[in-house]
Amino acid sequence: MYSFSERLNSLMLNQRENAMTQKSEQRNGNLVLPGDRLGVIEEFIPDSGTYVRDGVIYSKIIGRTLMDMLNRRVSVYPLNEGAIVPKVGSVVVGQVGNAQSDNVLVRISRVGKKQMSGFFGGILHISDVSDRYIDSMNEVCKPGDIIRAKVISEKNQICHLSTADRKLGVLYGFCSLCGNLLEQVKHEMRCTKCGNMERRKTSVDYGKEKV
Ligand SMILES: [Zn+2]
Repeated sequence: MYSFSERLNSLMLNQRENAMTQKSEQRNGNLVLPGDRLGVIEEFIPDSGTYVRDGVIYSKIIGRTLMDMLNRRVSVYPLNEGAIVPKVGSVVVGQVGNAQSDNVLVRISRVGKKQMSGFFGGILHISDVSDRYIDSMNEVCKPGDIIRAKVISEKNQICHLSTADRKLGVLYGFCSLCGNLLEQVKHEMRCTKCGNMERRKTSVDYGKEKV
């Protein structure tokens, strides 16, 4: 078994070898023209604004690339739509997906006040949750929760998130037993339906933000 970063490295190497004659390493937000090479179908799922020929993904339009490395999707957004792409410093809102003890994946659906047309993958690592020590992501957020976070890095073209601010964290948390919205009671989260008590790293405006 290869780790995620090993796979990523070997993919990038392959891409470099495949592309001796053509410039291929697209980055997020790059300006591309029709026919510009975006990658190969082994590494990406082609999405809007792209087409595939002989296993190679090309841009169909003039626009900016959106490379979602976590979901392995590549799309091109028309210039006049003003691509909504999470960048370092962006405050984003999304839904918590796959969770592990030290990180969770977030399906980003909003950047600043703008709604994305699809979603974009981000990752929140346990060391970026808070300034204080956190034992497990289990006390931070759970799959299905709506979370506000800030993009702190785009290392390896992956959107790394942080919630280390009082205005960042879970906006809506749902009971892991019955799915009901959790009510915040001091430092605990209570399910008004089944009485279950859980923990979250909430934003200061928990339950108030319109999503
Ligand atoms: Zn419940």
